[in-house]
This record gives sequence, structure tokens and C-alpha cells, in this order.
Amino acid sequence: MSIRASILAVDRVIPIKPWSVQVAPGMAGALQRQRLYWQISFFVLFVMAPVLDLFRYDLDAGHAIIFGLSWRLGLDDFFAGRIDATQAGLNILLRLFLPLLGGVALFIAVAWRWGRLYCGWLCPHFSVVETINRLMRHASGKPSVWEGKPLPARNPDGSPFRVDARWWLVTVPLAIIFALLWAVVLLTYLLAPAEVYGNLVHLAPTPNQGIFIGAGTVVLSLDFLLARHLFCRFGCAAGLFQSLAWMGNRDAMVIGFQRQRAAECVACYRKGAMGAAACEAVCPMRLKPRVAKNQMFTCTQCAQCVAACATVQSATGTLLTWVDHEAARQNEARVSLTGNTD
Ligand code: SF4
Ligand code: SF4
Repeated sequence: MSIRASILAVDRVIPIKPWSVQVAPGMAGALQRQRLYWQISFFVLFVMAPVLDLFRYDLDAGHAIIFGLSWRLGLDDFFAGRIDATQAGLNILLRLFLPLLGGVALFIAVAWRWGRLYCGWLCPHFSVVETINRLMRHASGKPSVWEGKPLPARNPDGSPFRVDARWWLVTVPLAIIFALLWAVVLLTYLLAPAEVYGNLVHLAPTPNQGIFIGAGTVVLSLDFLLARHLFCRFGCAAGLFQSLAWMGNRDAMVIGFQRQRAAECVACYRKGAMGAAACEAVCPMRLKPRVAKNQMFTCTQCAQCVAACATVQSATGTLLTWVDHEAARQNEARVSLTGNTD
């Protein structure tokens, strides 16, 4: 099922209006499973795209390869005098700027309408963020080393969440393995994958390959262990531009909170429950999902807060769900990026 179909499926079960319609049991969990499949599939694509010649730039050959075809700008012909400057300019426009602008426009258009779906559903960096967050919470009780205090030792359904320092033995090596994998994969976007993997199999990367992989592994290990969600919040250009586009559209899809039912949030604090706002505890971007959109700038639409609330409020229906258009405009997006209000 596509992301859009998934969203529409949830919309059918959680209509934007009226607010009182309940979530079908298990729907939020099913959505999270779908999101996991999307993330795994995109991660595999990220690793395999250069190997299958779907997309890469070959520094040795001096041109890109897209779907197995050489993608040249035609500048060789210009320097050899076979085409004039006008033709060369046209080539650059048609083969570089237009495809690039088209891709960026599509990316931004999706973000304008649905927010940072790419981050929450596809991005291979965010997959690592969520994986390491989970493991770190098992190891220390906190999803990152920067978290002020441990999260409650319970899951949203009230079951115990076990914290055991031995999980560090998994967390740190896995972060370094992810970093090494990322560094190698990034190199295959620049050099022939057969050469890169062949050299690694024979433990004989060239000095430059060794430096790239070594430096990449160190930098990415530090990112994955210390700064992963900070990078998503403050350091990633793709995330920033998605957020800016999304904030500019007050009709865009956003996590909505049924404020008239706010008193029911006491369910999160009753005996045997999590003992804290479940929606806040599970958010991988460390946001508070019940606030208005202008305080949710970096929301990735992962919907983990929706799943957590649906679990807590399984009897009466979630207080959090995606809303858009009028419901988003009235309840969540009271101010646009440019300061416009109704
Ligand atoms: S919105 Fe849902 S998950 Fe968040 S505090 Fe209220 S009841 Fe708990
Ligand atoms: S607020 Fe909800 S949808 Fe947004 S990043 Fe946090 S958990 Fe995901």
C-alpha cells in the first residue's frame, strides 16, 4: 500500500471531523508496520542503487549513471569543437538544471502538502536514528545522551520497559557498523561499486578509499552515537527545506490534538500506565506532539505519537491523529511561516 493510501486508510478510520470517531483497534500499529517496511525498502534501495547502476556518479568515468545509462552533459563535444556554445548551454539546461529542479520541486511539493514524510517514512538516516534511539533507551533508559532524565520504564500499554546496561554492548558496535556501511555505500556513489567492494573483500582498498571510509566511519559514528536527532533537527538541509515548505502551508497535514478531550490525558498517568505523556516519550525528534504546529517545526510525520496515544486510549479513541485543511488551519496551524493568520 502506498504512503498516500495508508494516510487515506487512516483518514477513513480517523476522520478529521467529527473528532469523536474512534480509531479501529490495531490500525495505528499496522501503520507503524507499514512505515517499517517502507524504511527497510528504502534503506535497501539506498545500498543497492549504485550496485544496480540505478543512480551514481562515476568519478573515474566523469559522468553520472542513471538506470544503467551514461548521463553526460555533452561538454566533451563542446571542448572538442563539435557543438557550439548555444548547444552546450542547452545541454546543461536540459540534462542538469531541469531534471534537478524537477526533482527538487516534487520533493518540496510533497513536503508542502504532507510535511516531512520523506524523513519519517524513507530517509536511511532517520532509520538509524530510530534504531539507535531504541537501543540507547534499553541501555540507559534515555533515547539519547542529551536527554535530561530517563524515560518511564514502561511502554504505552503499561508493560515494563527493561533497561539493562549490557545493551551498550550492542548499541555502540551497531552504531559503528551502521557508520561503516554508510561510508562504504557513499563511496560506491562516487566510484565503481565492483571496485570498492572487490577491494574491501580482498582487504586492499586504495589509500584514498581507505581515508574516505575511515574518516566517514569516524564522523558518522560520532553522529549516530551523539548527534543523530540533532542532525535531523538542525543540520540536514533536506529536512530544513521540507520543514520550511510545510510551515508555509496552513492546510498541510499535521498531527492534530483533540483539545476538548485534554482531560483524558490523565490516562497516561493513572496507576499501571506509563506515568508520563506517552506521545512525548515515544517521539524520536523529542517533540511534544500536543502543541500547535509552529512548535512542531521538525515533526517527521512518523506517527509514533498517534500509535502511542491509540494504545493508551484504546477504549475511547486516540486524542492525536493527522488532520489537514480546515481542521489543520483552525486547530494546529494558527500561524503560517510568513505570520499569516485568519
Ligand atoms: S495525547 Fe494521548 S498519549 Fe499524549 S498525553 Fe494525552 S492521552 Fe497520553
Ligand atoms: S510529533 Fe509525532 S509524528 Fe512528529 S516526529 Fe514526533 S512522534 Fe513523529
